[in-house]
Parts: sequence; C-alpha cells; structure tokens
Amino acid sequence: MLYEVFSLNTITGEIRIKGEIDFEKADVYKLDVHATDKGQPPMSTDCRVIIKVLDKNDNKPKIEVTSLSKTVSESSKLGTVVSLISITDQDAGLNGKVICSLSDDVPFDLKPSFQDNMYSIVLKQHLDHRELVSHYDVKITATDCGQPPLSTFKTLSIDVADVNDNRPQFLHNPMEFYLVENNVPGNSILSVSASDKDFNENAALTYHIGREEQTNQKMTAFLNINSDNGQISALKSFDFETLKTFQFKVVATDSGTPPLSSNVTVNVFILDQNDNAPVIMYPLSSNGSAEGVEEIPRNVNAGHLVTKVRAYDADIGYNGWLLFSLQEVTDHSLFGLDRYTGQIRTLRSFTETDEAEHKLVIMVKDNGNVSLSATATVIVKLVEPKEAFAASDVKSATKVVEEDNVTFYLMITLGAVSVLFLVSIIVLIAMQCSKSTDYTTKYLQETNYDGTLCHSIQYRSGDKRYMLVGPRMSIGSTIMPGSHANTLVLPDRRRTSEEGLLCCVGIGVLPLQEGSSFEMPHTGE
Ligand code: CA
Ligand code: CA
Ligand code: CA
Ligand code: CA
Ligand code: CA
Ligand code: CA
Repeated sequence: MLYEVFSLNTITGEIRIKGEIDFEKADVYKLDVHATDKGQPPMSTDCRVIIKVLDKNDNKPKIEVTSLSKTVSESSKLGTVVSLISITDQDAGLNGKVICSLSDDVPFDLKPSFQDNMYSIVLKQHLDHRELVSHYDVKITATDCGQPPLSTFKTLSIDVADVNDNRPQFLHNPMEFYLVENNVPGNSILSVSASDKDFNENAALTYHIGREEQTNQKMTAFLNINSDNGQISALKSFDFETLKTFQFKVVATDSGTPPLSSNVTVNVFILDQNDNAPVIMYPLSSNGSAEGVEEIPRNVNAGHLVTKVRAYDADIGYNGWLLFSLQEVTDHSLFGLDRYTGQIRTLRSFTETDEAEHKLVIMVKDNGNVSLSATATVIVKLVEPKEAFAASDVKSATKVVEEDNVTFYLMITLGAVSVLFLVSIIVLIAMQCSKSTDYTTKYLQETNYDGTLCHSIQYRSGDKRYMLVGPRMSIGSTIMPGSHANTLVLPDRRRTSEEGLLCCVGIGVLPLQEGSSFEMPHTGE
C-alpha cells in the first residue's frame, strides 16, 4: 500500500508522493528505507522514515438527525426535547471543532448533550398560538473553526399540533332577532353560529338550546335547533298579542377532548302583524251585533253629542290605529262623525220635516298595510223632549250622570276660582291703598306673549309684579267642556330669580318675569 502512496528514487533516495494522502485515513506513515552500495561485498544499512501528515480542513461538519418529533403540541412545556442531532467533523483540531446554531426566529434552542457532538433541540418559548403559527422550519448551521471555515446547513420541519385551548365564540352576545308573528310552525326562524380558533375536531361545533333554570323553559320547549348548523325552528306560531319577547340560551360545544363550550343569550322580539280586526265595544246589542238605538230630543242644537262609537284593536301601531267613517247615513246633512274619536254629533237642528228615525252605519278601520275593519249600526230616534227626558232617566243613566258630574264639578271649581280671584284682587287693592302714594296700580305692557288663547294684565305693587292671565277667545275657537282649557295654576308665591316663569293656560304658553303671579282662567267672554 505504501508503494501506492510514495515512490523512492533508488539512485537519489528521494521519496515522493505518488498517491493520495488523506489525514483522515492515515496521519502517519512509516517507511523503512534500505540503502546499499555497489562494492563487493555490498554494504547496506536500514533507516526508518516517519512521515506525519498534517490535517487540512477538507471536511465539512456533518449534521445527523438521530431523532425528531415532527409535530409538537402547542401546550408543550418549556424544555421539551424536539430532536436529537449529532454533529461531527472528520478533521482534527480546529478544523474539526464545530460551532452550531439555530435560526433566531424559532422558539427552539440548541443544547449540547452530555455526549460529545450530540445536541438536543428543546422548546424555549411557549407555543400557545398554533392559531397563529402552526409550522416552523428550524435551520441548523454547523461551522468548523478551520481556515477557511466550512459550514453545513440542515432544516428541520416541525408542525405544531393543536390543543383544544379555545372556546367556541359567538360574534355577538346577546343576540337579537326580530320575528313577525304568525310564523309557520316548523319553519326556521333564526340561526346562530359560533367560531372556534382551534383545528379540526377541536373546532368542530355542535349546538344545543340551553335548558338551564334561568332560561324560559316554557319557551325552549317550542324551539328546535339543528345541532350541526345552529338553525332554530319554532314548533309553534307566535302571537304578538300574547307574547312580545322571549329569551333563551344556545350552547355551542366543540368536539375536543375535553370539549369546551360557551353560550349566547338570544333575545327574540315578536313583531306585530295586522291580524286583529277592530272590535266594536259600543254600541253592542244583546245578541252581540254592533247595533244600538239612540234616542235624542228633537229640540237639540247643532253639535249635540248623539253617541260615541267605541272600538278596540288588539294590534299596535298602525295595525291598531283606528279611524271611523260614516259608511251609510240616511241624511248627510244631519249627522257628523269624528273620524278619530268616533263621536257622532248633530250637524244642525232638526226640523219638522226630518224623519223620526235615522240609520247610521259606521265603519271602523285600522291602518294596517292590509287594513281590517268592523261596522257598527246606530239607529237614531228623534223623540219629543218630554219623552227623551223620561227615556234618558231609564236608559244609560250612568253615562249622563257621569257627564253631568263633570260639568257640575267644573262649575264648582270655576266658582271657587272666581271667588278666590276676587278676594285676591280685593286684598291687593287694599294693600295698594294702604301702602305707597306715589303710584297707583300701574299697567305694564304685555311682554313675550305669544298665542291666541290668553290675554294678560300685569301690574306692579311695591316691589312685586303681578300678572293676570285669562283665555282669550279668538274667532271660531271653542272651549269644549271637559277640556283642560280651564285650569287654575298657582305657582310659587315668590320667585327671586331673573328667569322667566312659564305658565300654561290651555295650550297657550306664557312666560312671566319675576314676582308672584296668578292665573285667572275663565270659560268665555
Ligand atoms: Ca473540517
Ligand atoms: Ca482534513
Ligand atoms: Ca376549541
Ligand atoms: Ca388550539
Ligand atoms: Ca297582531
Ligand atoms: Ca288590527
């Protein structure tokens, strides 16, 4: 073998390299050289030539993966060993001394093992977020210390395995749904959906309706949920008039081990549909039909209240907003109907030629998109005044008494107010006379006054300012009995602030400045 590596010049004794010298194969050669002269007898001698081979950095470090977990759980603890590697370099000395490192951007670290050249790759940061990073490419660099240095790279591919660490999430909680009443039983009414940041079965959701105590057990019995897609159907039809809103809970559960779940509160608001026709409350005959007979004296004036048709609608809003109309009337010149209140009044006085009996058909309509209606029939009989009095004694006594009472109390109140007012005036005048002499009652200009219902007088007494207010009748205006036009307001006796004081008389609003004030309304002028 040596002959293949070295050659010896038999004349000069030069030893030359003729083959390949590799330090890693043999780092020393021992040649036994034999020299002979050409004398007779020839003399010879032996010597040993020892050739030491110097190392050259001709080997790259070698990275070998002895074990590798291709996937590592996102819940793994710090220090978990992911892989074992061995790094070798065949060279000697610095040429074979290897420094290795990992790429910076990975949550792993390289640790030397107790065994030479062995390293372990361990977890140095928590992998909580498979949801953000699910895969790492870990690049190992091994560089020797030779001149020039040689390097080797190896990339390990590591997947992060999912752990069920995320609960299902509903986008909104509580959720609100609006549902028009009279839904078809069995049809889907709403749908809930949650998301889960985990993977595969850890994110595979099923839904069910919460049956906890605080939820409306009675309602949930009527609800059915598709556990796969969260579609909820109602097994019954909802009626806005009996139920306006209800609440329940939906629970979403993932299929992880152990499973995680979360719930959402669902508020359902039932919307009204115009499914109720107006119901006539008055007039109502004994057989249940909306018919009534009203007797009125022949001598009543125009504007006499004949009767008031009363109706009720179970719906709300436009669906329950009722308007009255005269559908049929024997004499249009005689009776008028208020479309909002249902009051029927005479339009003029009766004459001798007027028929004794009149039939009025009143239609009550709600304002739903498709409006529903009901009709009432009122027969108006004209009777002689005496008869009417007798009749009214017997019939509908309560109603008349009721209205009479209102008028009676109104008059009492007005009387009392008038007396109070007069007394006040007298007292004021008395005070006025007994006090200062340099001025008498001084009329002041009306200030900041707006509106047609009031008139006012202000006057000054000492340092006080008084204002008297009463309704002013503009042409064509009327004050209805029972309306709130006649109110006595006695505000604070004393107001020191500079702000105006607001007083209301009927619908007129009147600012008053400083001082005590009285309001003195009265019915007419
Ligand atoms: Ca080397
Ligand atoms: Ca070498
Ligand atoms: Ca999950
Ligand atoms: Ca997860
Ligand atoms: Ca309704
Ligand atoms: Ca209605």
